[in-house]
Amino acid sequence: MQTEIDSPAVITAPAAARRWVALRSPSRRVAVVPTMGALHEGHLALVRRAHELADDVVVTIFVNPTQFAPHEDLSRYPRPIDDDLRMLRRERVAMVFMPSIEAIYPAGFSTFIEPPAVGVPLEGERRPGHFRGVCTVVLKLFQIVPAHVAIFGQKDFQQACVIQAMVRDLDLAITLDIMPTVREAGGLAMSSRNRYLTETERGRALSINQSLTAAANLYSSGQRQVRALEAVMHEKLAIGSPGGVDSIDYACVVNAETLLPIETVDDSAAALIAARVGNTRLIDNHVFSNLTR
Ligand code: AMP
Repeated sequence: MQTEIDSPAVITAPAAARRWVALRSPSRRVAVVPTMGALHEGHLALVRRAHELADDVVVTIFVNPTQFAPHEDLSRYPRPIDDDLRMLRRERVAMVFMPSIEAIYPAGFSTFIEPPAVGVPLEGERRPGHFRGVCTVVLKLFQIVPAHVAIFGQKDFQQACVIQAMVRDLDLAITLDIMPTVREAGGLAMSSRNRYLTETERGRALSINQSLTAAANLYSSGQRQVRALEAVMHEKLAIGSPGGVDSIDYACVVNAETLLPIETVDDSAAALIAARVGNTRLIDNHVFSNLTR
């Protein structure tokens, strides 16, 4: 049994990672938590959930270039690898898979996954190619680390929908588990990108959660008209005002399964926001259901 002071095995070669999993006893369940590093309590909640679901927990750290557009933050994305490994040691992670870009995309690599329909609106429109990169790397990670279960966060709501659809459509032999969003004290959803925010920007970023809370409260008071829910969201985001965000990519209420527009909230719906504070693009969401949040 591993103790807290044991270091996780750090593996960079895909073949070695696959071998590491294959050498587990067949009776041991393996969980994988895919991340891009710069770990925070949100990631660690996924790791703790992984321990509940499996015997051995694997975390992958890979800043995947194919999911970033040329103008996005790939080059400045934080990579505090020593801190990350220290946290994962404390969380009793058995193996960290940390490949180079060349190991995942060797010369001549040319096969990509076409994302499912649920990846077409919202992020799909604002970040063309993003989910193509996400699906391709996640499928590769599932191949390299053939785990029984993978844990993802609801923070990236559309990404979770996309991966669920991919697993279903391609008959992947893995179970998915989606964990609620972990927030900072003021309600800001934890994100590796929060490191980019200045003190004042951090204050203004709170308007994103406040906007979702306002929509949730309005929903609780009986409002089911999407137009009214979206109006209060935009009001709280207070675009351009001293306490608000600088721009909004979307702030909308959609069907929680298809992510397509609706007029009235009935069975299930989700409020999704992508907004910019300074140079930082932040996303957050709220699912209108008594079971989450
Ligand atoms: P990332 O490193 O941002 O690609 O995220 C890796 C995983 O952690 C994804 O499944 C995210 O949805 C999840 N995650 C990121 N932030 C949070 C959060 N605040 N709470 C819960 N899960 C999160």
